[in-house]
Amino acid sequence: MTVGTAKEQVTSQGELARLDVERVRQDFPILQRQVHGQPLVYLDNAATTQKPRAVIDALSRFYEGSNSNVHRGVHALSQEATDLFESARQKIGRFLNTRKAEEVILVRGTTEGLNLVAQSYARPRLKAGDQILISGMEHHSNIVPWQMVCQQTGAELKVAPINERGELIMEEFVKLLSAKTKVVSVVHVSNALGTVNPVRQIVELAHRVGAIAVLDGAQAVAHAPVDVRALDCDFYAFSGHKLYGPTGIGALYGRAELLEAMPPWQGGGDMIKSVTFAQTIYNDLPYKFEAGTPDVAGAVGLGAAIDYLQAVGIEQVAAHEADLLAYGTQLLSDMEGVRLIGTAAHKAGVLGFVVEGAHAHDVGTILDSLGIAVRTGHHCAQPVMDFFNLPATARASLAMYNRREELDALAEGLREVVKVFA
Ligand code: PLP
Repeated sequence: MTVGTAKEQVTSQGELARLDVERVRQDFPILQRQVHGQPLVYLDNAATTQKPRAVIDALSRFYEGSNSNVHRGVHALSQEATDLFESARQKIGRFLNTRKAEEVILVRGTTEGLNLVAQSYARPRLKAGDQILISGMEHHSNIVPWQMVCQQTGAELKVAPINERGELIMEEFVKLLSAKTKVVSVVHVSNALGTVNPVRQIVELAHRVGAIAVLDGAQAVAHAPVDVRALDCDFYAFSGHKLYGPTGIGALYGRAELLEAMPPWQGGGDMIKSVTFAQTIYNDLPYKFEAGTPDVAGAVGLGAAIDYLQAVGIEQVAAHEADLLAYGTQLLSDMEGVRLIGTAAHKAGVLGFVVEGAHAHDVGTILDSLGIAVRTGHHCAQPVMDFFNLPATARASLAMYNRREELDALAEGLREVVKVFA
């Protein structure tokens, strides 16, 4: 790996060293390619991040040298694969500061993690008269699983509103909390708006009324340190592919006491201790929630991604992205015909915008012809689009390998778009 060790990240004056973005870029092979004859400017990181060589190599190494199924074999390869898989779980546990590795359930991603909580924690407990509280800026994966539970149990879904800047209105959120609230589930960082929610405060407020607090960390974990113990949340879900890791793998942190008391949500191999036709005894944590062959290579790749991010230094990444966000916000705010959507006081690296008179898809298509990848559409957050009365926005989202020149290229591209639609 070409990045420095953790020690090298602090200068002799004890300051945080600046991220060497050119060096980081060399670790991501895809960034060398061209799109439509132009250098790739990849600004779709909230959808998925690109993968460093360290992750790609870890996947190949696994398949070339250690591939086997886990937990069920006495032979050397199976034990090796199991060790690699379990060491990935431990890395994730340390990364999130869980109390024990068994509190990390390996799942397909954020969506599966949230569905697990909905089906295994909420469904067996909730009844008519109970409430689930979410916010008005949720991704569909933190709306639909709760709607399903409401249909299944008779519980009611409550939604705390947001303001014109895309911030949660805390007074309204507090008003919606009561003894009826059994689950509070909120996004840590909004994918459509970039808003960073006051999640520590939200968790505390939820606990005060006896509700559990679930956090959707899909857009948070790659951009700032996350400590589930400091947050005191009950569940925290994230996806590996938004953290420079592979698709198809992610994790759900759950407080051990809660996980212990929850029934499994899927049945099959690995989640059992013994099976007869009369009775099945479920396995211990975390296996109780991991039915079937897991994505072993994916877990190994995710472990490598965490190692990579930590070697670069997550604090440096956060500082670098904050600089880019401020730079990009200034560029787009100064532009005639461009309007930023999502202007919260506390934001992460997401720049949502519309160009007056242009559909977001046309904006995206013109930018693509210039080699610039942004996402356009409702970003799986249709209620957010409805709130702003828009069919869609364009979104540039940042990662550790982006640089100011790429935001200049975006601004240059947008000037072309504005000319076309003026
Ligand atoms: N939550 C947020 C805030 C997201 O941005 C996303 C993906 O864009 C998800 C949940 C769902 O993640 P996945 O599709 O990886 O399960």
